[in-house]
Amino acid sequence: MAPHAAANDVAQKPAVVEGTLTVANVAANRTRFPLPKGVAAFSDSSMFKSAASAAKPKAKRWDHYISAESKLRKPSTLKQIAQYLQPGMLSLGGGLPSQEYFPFHEISAKAPSPSQFADPAPANPECSVISTKHDIIDATSEFDLEVALNYGQSVGYAAFVRWVTEHVEIVHNPPYGDWDLTLAPGSTQGWDFVLRMLCKPGDIVLTEEYTFCSAMEGAAAQGVIPFPVKVDAEGLLASSLDEILTNWDPAAHGGARKPFVLYTVPSGQNPTGATQSAERRKEIYKVAQKHDLIICEDEPYYFLQMEPYKGLGTPMTPPPASTDEFLKTLVPSFLSMDTDGRVIRLDSFSKVLSPGSRVSFVVASAQLTERMIRQAETSTQSPSGMAQILLYKLLDEAWGHEGYIKWLIHIRVEYTKRRNCIMDACEEFLPKSVATFNPPTAGMFNWIQIDWKKHPAIKEGKDHDAIEEMIFLAAVDAGVLVSRGTWFLADQSAKQEDMFFRTTFAAAPADQIREAIKRFGSVLNAQFNIQ
Ligand code: PMP
Repeated sequence: MAPHAAANDVAQKPAVVEGTLTVANVAANRTRFPLPKGVAAFSDSSMFKSAASAAKPKAKRWDHYISAESKLRKPSTLKQIAQYLQPGMLSLGGGLPSQEYFPFHEISAKAPSPSQFADPAPANPECSVISTKHDIIDATSEFDLEVALNYGQSVGYAAFVRWVTEHVEIVHNPPYGDWDLTLAPGSTQGWDFVLRMLCKPGDIVLTEEYTFCSAMEGAAAQGVIPFPVKVDAEGLLASSLDEILTNWDPAAHGGARKPFVLYTVPSGQNPTGATQSAERRKEIYKVAQKHDLIICEDEPYYFLQMEPYKGLGTPMTPPPASTDEFLKTLVPSFLSMDTDGRVIRLDSFSKVLSPGSRVSFVVASAQLTERMIRQAETSTQSPSGMAQILLYKLLDEAWGHEGYIKWLIHIRVEYTKRRNCIMDACEEFLPKSVATFNPPTAGMFNWIQIDWKKHPAIKEGKDHDAIEEMIFLAAVDAGVLVSRGTWFLADQSAKQEDMFFRTTFAAAPADQIREAIKRFGSVLNAQFNIQ
């Protein structure tokens, strides 16, 4: 028997909605393609995006960048069996265990209802979700525990892949047609997919001069070397990127070929807190086109974009009044300007729902997501089915796209309050003569620059790293933990002119943030002999 038709001829199906997806028309668009509902059913984004999106020009091909390791990956023989399953078929072919022996009959969860984010909140603001093993048969849900507790496809369970696809189109509306996605157990894993798909030992990855150290530690373990691109208050500098690539001489870099992967955290960068403006992103994209770069945008903080800090004690402006208004306030992503299909977007629920869910998604051209799915099939398989069904129940059935965006507006307000709190504390307690900071407009991090050359230990011949350590340890003694800037250097061997400490306003409530900065201020006063 022939396998089921693949989803990628969906573009020919008639449009059900005019134009691209919006919060208002997702329901209508869902009638375009039946949702595959069975155990380990196949799905991909082409089943769920709008016809207008699918009809856009196709991405460029990236065959010249796919690593030898990735090229060797074949589709998992056993996972492919699922495409022969037909309704009513008796399956003895797969290795799927029997759902009767899964000891969970039902799971339920409670979460805030979107109406709770209104001011004033109504009296009964909770919503509950329940999943059992027979919801699909009972026609009470399109995804249930029987499916979620079993093996699934690496891309994710179809009902959840549909929701994520819609979310991506509503927020980013990629300008090419064959964009696709795969779920992953966190962006940390998503980055590992990217490294293995594109790089080999000895390759160089370009990144901000201070960068997310876990990402670079992952690269280093594969023999991939980070190379720093200069930054300013708006993050990565397109001019520095262009200069590095224009003048690349393999002989000066141990024979390394010209870099073709840029790893960047465009919003609320970790550790500097910098956010690239729309203009900056366009400049970087142009340089990427000029030098044929793949841009890996790692965006866990994208939705934590906030209004600028307006000074000590200044009240916040009211949050966006509608979900549309909120989406318009966001700086456009690289994915949203990606006419070539050269962007790989790592998006994660870690910072907006919970890191322990271990659910993220990678959006890229179908050619690249296919390679990453092949990698997942023989490594992570997929994020946990339990996590996927819980998120699906919350995001699709309880909140819907509108409710989720209202949640994002809500947490953005909450993080803005904390950002304002840490800024007020820095204004009040840090000695201006040695400590400066740029109020972040996204994310969770505040990057404090220290004028270390004023430190008295300079006279004893102490260098940058010794003084950074002295300040760090004095802070520990005073009961406040901050991160040393050098931990985040892309080039760990680079001699440092500047000194920074990273603080986060995410981890503690307002009173503790204030107390922590007060202690750090006292440490600086003592270290620099400031009265
Ligand atoms: N990327 C960046 C820039 C981060 O700051 C973090 C978390 N600190 C991650 C990725 C990790 O994301 P996940 O939990 O999805 O693996």
